[in-house]
Amino acid sequence: MLRAGGKCSRPDCGRETFGPSEAQATKAIILGQAAHICSASPGGARYDLSQTDAERHSLENGLWLCENCASLIDKNKGVDFPVSLLKIWKKASEAAAQDRLFRLSESVRDNCVSSLIFMNIPRLHHLIALTKQPLELPTYFDDGIPGEGYIAPELNSLRRIIAQMRFPALQWQEAIKMFADPTGLVVSFEGRFRTRNGPKEARDRSERDISDIENAPQIYAKSGNIKFVMPYDPRFLTTATAGVEMRRGSTNVGGFASIKYREDDVVVASPFIIGLYSTPEARAFMNALVAHQRAGR
Ligand SMILES: [Zn+2]
Repeated sequence: MLRAGGKCSRPDCGRETFGPSEAQATKAIILGQAAHICSASPGGARYDLSQTDAERHSLENGLWLCENCASLIDKNKGVDFPVSLLKIWKKASEAAAQDRLFRLSESVRDNCVSSLIFMNIPRLHHLIALTKQPLELPTYFDDGIPGEGYIAPELNSLRRIIAQMRFPALQWQEAIKMFADPTGLVVSFEGRFRTRNGPKEARDRSERDISDIENAPQIYAKSGNIKFVMPYDPRFLTTATAGVEMRRGSTNVGGFASIKYREDDVVVASPFIIGLYSTPEARAFMNALVAHQRAGR
């Protein structure tokens, strides 16, 4: 069930096999079952004499299906559904489940990329190299540091590039559940974050020691007792608005980052981009700004 991501593994079906009960708030309904690829009992569908008992009851011999499909594959002793076919279903459904999990959250891409308030150009270059993206970041910035007066057209082309990027990224909460040591993983994040040690002035983009986790400018969130901290270098804040957002106490943001290390209940990550949830007003403002700048050239 877990490896199939909760969906029926028959490609023509794919239905969800569990969900909350409507009548009972604490109960779940499970409509799926681990069907046997080769039957566990002699005379059953696809029974394989050469299997040991352990093999018959192993995970490899199981296929997660909804109740309908589980009974379907055993009809007529399973003649219509040979072992080779069921193994393909199993492989495909596990791969699809993995794909759903390991990808840059579409909501981050759709909602946050259009209003970037932090962009770590050197780290994006690093990510592009790692993921072999056939993309080139523009080189508008000396040493990757945005200069004074840098704004809409550059931001716009960077947003377009980032929106095209495809690489696997787990949500940070999933990553820390799945890996005891999540170091090096690219994760996405979205939601309300607390801000701390942000620049005092909106325009203050001076370099800080971001390895000093107590004093570095940072945003953080919690999941259970795990604290997810992202120290950031104010030199990569994109605009004065960004400076304001990063010192207002808390802010609704999304983006992606790579995990640097975990120490007890603290997970420290380095952000590639941080964006605000975009609103129609923010998009309209940005478009007007771009048009204004173009007209001025
Ligand atoms: Zn089904």
